[in-house]
Amino acid sequence: MKPSEAPLGAQIEVLLPTAAPHGFDYLAGSHGLQAGDIVTVPFGRGESLGVVWGKGTANLPPAKMKPVAAKHSEYPRLSDALRAFVDWAAWYNCAPKGAMLKMVLPIAEVVREMKSRVKIDTAIDPQKFNLAPLSDTQKNGADTLEEKLGKGFSVTLLDGVTGSGKTEVYYDTIAKILASDAEAQVLVMLPEIALSVQSLSRFEQRFGTAPLVWNSEITPAKKRATWQAISQGSARVIVGARSALFLPYKKLALIVVDEEHDQSYKQEEGVIYHARDMAVARARFEKLPVLLVSATPSLESYYNVKQGKYAEVSLPARHGAAEMPDIHMLDMKKVPVARGGFISEPLREKIAAAVAAGHQAMLFLNRRGYAPLMLCRACGHRFQCPDCSSWLVLHKGKPRLECHHCGYNLPVPKTCPSCQAEDNFAPCGPGVERISEEVVAFMPEARVAVMASDSSENFKGVEETIVAMAERKIDVLIGTQMIAKGHHFAGLAVVGVVDADLGLAGGDLRAAERTYQLLHQLSGRAGRESVAGSVYLQSYFPEHPVMQALISGDRDKFLAAELTARKNGNMPPFARLAAVIVDGAKENEVLQTAKQLAASAGHHSNKALHILGPAPAPLFMLRGKFRYRLLVQADKNINLPEFMQSWLGSVQHPSSVRVRADIDPQSFL
Ligand code: ADP
Ligand code: ZN
Repeated sequence: MKPSEAPLGAQIEVLLPTAAPHGFDYLAGSHGLQAGDIVTVPFGRGESLGVVWGKGTANLPPAKMKPVAAKHSEYPRLSDALRAFVDWAAWYNCAPKGAMLKMVLPIAEVVREMKSRVKIDTAIDPQKFNLAPLSDTQKNGADTLEEKLGKGFSVTLLDGVTGSGKTEVYYDTIAKILASDAEAQVLVMLPEIALSVQSLSRFEQRFGTAPLVWNSEITPAKKRATWQAISQGSARVIVGARSALFLPYKKLALIVVDEEHDQSYKQEEGVIYHARDMAVARARFEKLPVLLVSATPSLESYYNVKQGKYAEVSLPARHGAAEMPDIHMLDMKKVPVARGGFISEPLREKIAAAVAAGHQAMLFLNRRGYAPLMLCRACGHRFQCPDCSSWLVLHKGKPRLECHHCGYNLPVPKTCPSCQAEDNFAPCGPGVERISEEVVAFMPEARVAVMASDSSENFKGVEETIVAMAERKIDVLIGTQMIAKGHHFAGLAVVGVVDADLGLAGGDLRAAERTYQLLHQLSGRAGRESVAGSVYLQSYFPEHPVMQALISGDRDKFLAAELTARKNGNMPPFARLAAVIVDGAKENEVLQTAKQLAASAGHHSNKALHILGPAPAPLFMLRGKFRYRLLVQADKNINLPEFMQSWLGSVQHPSSVRVRADIDPQSFL
């Protein structure tokens, strides 16, 4: 008898998709329930969907217990592996189990009437596959991946330069799975679906069917139908963002995490978790192979390969005749820049020459809007968000001043609120809108477009821009980090980085690693076909190791140096970190709680585990809440989640103060 078939007895624990840390006891009645069954139970004044989690915990006398209202045999039972994963993920991330279950059953409210009117065509026909014939190197890689299939848990890093055909290689693996097992499912995780039009249409070309997409943008009706197709097994390939990894797949055979280094895999709101790490964990519970894909692997994954924990497949060269782009430094202390401009003369010339030759150019600046700050020329007043420690960003197109942290915004005023001077404001520094204005000024004929998360407010806007760029209807595309991701623009000859130093400024643990990844990925957009690519980095610190690594193309030397620095500082991946964020509307209460946490940690602190802080967070005020941070630095052999649970549980605090754990923090704001 399998464990899930063991009789549960008259009292059972049902986990509800709420913020509760544990399940509630119910009477099983005569439903013949087993662990994993989806049920409806009375809850509060109404009903809730839930999942039978196991035997009752006997925390209620039977007389007080209510019976289960209904069993939903129309949905597949959640597997032991999935339930174990939910338990583990809640424990690891210090999150309530119910909140984890909510990601498995994200449609709890509507799942009860499952008769979905949305039709989803998920048929896969291997006859219709039209895969790219692989090169010898690619084929070797694909063979190595094939060996991992059906052999239980394994992690492989597919490490290949930009444009080497990593996607074609994992498509080959997916095709083999689909063709050999008519029920097998594959999950492909992408960091941002909105930026993935090209990859979705390539999938359709190669497989003759579009994959099923799971992300936050799909409508509730479609979501329901998609969930159903996934849990009942008719959906074979699912392309999803972070949350797709919690879904109840019927027969998952492989998880692919594309662009595994990407920061957006870290969910920072609500339940804090790292989707790449959770994907690896899920694969471990489900005994599956997982494939991490990147041209700029995270230091963690790179280190795991070096340690022999992960297997590796590498693709060292671009596919076909395409060459890696040339990368050049423009030392901003030396090159001429026109007054009031941000694009140096040599970069202007390169862009103009590329466009004149019928090619395309891209300019990157990781700042939305027109200017990151506006001040009054008369009195120096700076416009600041009333609810956050941040300046208001000038958006000229709207025109408005906007807080990028909370969304607070106001029309650009006529008079200075401080000295009443009229129309006397100075925008300070550039954002993408200002760069676009500069390009239009020196190239009035060029077709110029901006891509940033607000200039293309919705899905459609972003998609249209990507398609227009791919169809060469844009000469110069200016954008934030959105333009760095995965795109394939055949005509792209020149990439200019307006401020290559920007990402290094914050100086957090991963600043160098991230700047390298971002600029390298961005460079990787250039010269992907017959047009040769050149990249120009404007920097005040051309001698910085990150800039040097980009120029020399010696990635592994850079990663080795980063690893040494991390080792010397006893930082990840050599040690473990967890952050605690304490916030609330009353500063004294917040600070008091943070201090109590620090004091209580004193008992636990020892050589293998330190607690730093509390310190005011760099983003001290956010949405009207004061924020303090603590950081736990622990040796690798410390059971960090265990420590966190008991530590955070040991301190009482006012209910108006929120204490949140962030395991393996990526952001230190
Ligand atoms: P990566 O994912 O490593 O950046 P892609 O898989 O996107 O690389 O490949 C880059 C470009 O080269 C794409 O247009 C892709 O279709 C093409 N390509 C790669 N390998 C092959 C192949 N074996 N046959 C035909 N085209 C290929
Ligand atoms: Zn704000």
